[in-house]
Amino acid sequence: MERTLSIHSIIAGAPVAGSGEEISAVAAFDGAPLEPAYRATSPEEFERAASAAADAFDVYRATDHETRAAFLERIADAIEARGAEITERGVVETGLPAARLENERGRTTGQLRLFAAVLREGSWAGARIDRALPDRAPAPRPDLRRRLVPLGPVAVFGASNFPLAFSTAGGDTASALAAGCPVIVKAHQGHPGVASLIGDAIAEAVEASGLPGGVFSQVFGSGRDIGQRLVADPRIGAVGFTGSRAGGLSLVRTAQQRPVPIPVYAEMSSINPVVVLPAAVEADGGAIAAGYVDSLTLGSGQFCTNPGILVVPRSAAGDELLGRVAELVRGRTGQTMLTPGIHSAFREGVDARRSADTAIVGEGAPGEGPHAPAPIVFEADAASFGDALADEVFGAAGLVLRYDSAEQLHGLVAGLEGQLTATVFAAEADHEVARGLLPVLERRVGRILFNGWPTGVEVTWTMVHGGPFPATSDSRSTSVGAAAIERFLRPVAYQNVPAGLLPEVVRDDNPWGVPQRVDGGIVLP
Ligand code: NAP
Repeated sequence: MERTLSIHSIIAGAPVAGSGEEISAVAAFDGAPLEPAYRATSPEEFERAASAAADAFDVYRATDHETRAAFLERIADAIEARGAEITERGVVETGLPAARLENERGRTTGQLRLFAAVLREGSWAGARIDRALPDRAPAPRPDLRRRLVPLGPVAVFGASNFPLAFSTAGGDTASALAAGCPVIVKAHQGHPGVASLIGDAIAEAVEASGLPGGVFSQVFGSGRDIGQRLVADPRIGAVGFTGSRAGGLSLVRTAQQRPVPIPVYAEMSSINPVVVLPAAVEADGGAIAAGYVDSLTLGSGQFCTNPGILVVPRSAAGDELLGRVAELVRGRTGQTMLTPGIHSAFREGVDARRSADTAIVGEGAPGEGPHAPAPIVFEADAASFGDALADEVFGAAGLVLRYDSAEQLHGLVAGLEGQLTATVFAAEADHEVARGLLPVLERRVGRILFNGWPTGVEVTWTMVHGGPFPATSDSRSTSVGAAAIERFLRPVAYQNVPAGLLPEVVRDDNPWGVPQRVDGGIVLP
């Protein structure tokens, strides 16, 4: 039977209509208000969510890894059961095509199941044992054991551009729940209906797993109000955020100014340089041009890994590549952007590029409706690249920079801000130059790719989706892949703690069957 959509907060695992101000979702297509209207979470409702999260923490963190793994799998199942409704509502709220939302659903449930596998594999627990050396001279060594414990309730800010994979049950939520942290999500106002449907799926899994309701809450309202309240709350132990640099930095400041500061893992802004080396452009210019235009325009360019700058040698083959880019981009049509606000920010960014020292390589056609701007590619000299051109323009607005020498290229890359990714197109004959670039890139980015495109982030054990500021606020971590769990854990050492009082993962009989590092060597269960 078809359900009527209701958009509601989840407070301590239960739906609550909300008693804050009334809000209307809007259609991405034209900004028209959407039914049903819903209400922001009130301060009293927020208080209940925060205190329930604090109360749930000790119970939840004491659950074994199998309980948590089965909980994550139940969330995935419950999302799948709501798949059609999520897609139907998601298309209207975000303007993203149904096929893309269905793919993203698969990625989201895959991510939850990956964290279930991470929990069962066990090395996330960081178990180490240095056995006592009672006969060591001049002093005996004590028995030392170490494991990782969760930080506390985590505040997660849903992202506009991934309404599933980086939102209510996205990578931040999945990794925090896996770590043993209750989660309070601040839903993104760009897709409240999707957020509510997914919030219901998580609440259902909380109940089916017999966990305290405080393990999950989701609040609605403006970032400056409920978002700030959430990060300032003393019961919150860490923050996961994906969005603008201004929003991320504001939350970092709030978190640092608390009497007890907490870590904020904010993924913010990246222009993901793609460097084409001379032999690669000679060998493969046409294919590089085609791949570039596809990657640039994918999802209206609204990816954090969008290839914002393409760096091309000034040569006949480089000119040909640009000619092909021009031809291809002129054949592209714009797609509706995620929110009217993101559309107007894109227009402002494009206008700033037009009035900077640039030329237009090619411009496509606007799509249907008022918020589907034409994709566009600009060109500038690498020598003129500076602050005016370095800001991310979120959307399908590319910038091609032309360079004259390996030295100029080196200088350009060395001057870049921190990035999520950098890509190098290199043929065999380019490897010497590429070898020189690698150490510079390592200092700037979280993921280095060769001969491919940065859009499309694999969710695996090895992936790094992070990078130095301003790509993220903390370059030591990743927000995608198995290692994302490490953001929400901290180490505790146990010295001479009696065997019967030790946590399971560091006991000699290893009842959870986790890998343990014993006296420096890994011992597998
Ligand atoms: P955003 O404006 O930063 O908003 C993201 C979330 O943070 C929203 O829930 C928002 O709440 C909240 N927020 C924003 N400023 C805040 C503040 N000062 N205090 C507390 N909470 C705050 O990002 P967006 O809506 O996703 O998109 C806007 C721009 O972000 C884009 O144009 C693009 O430049 C950038 N963006 C970058 C990436 C990336 O991965 N690099 C991804 C998505 C977006 P409310 O909106 O409800 O107030």
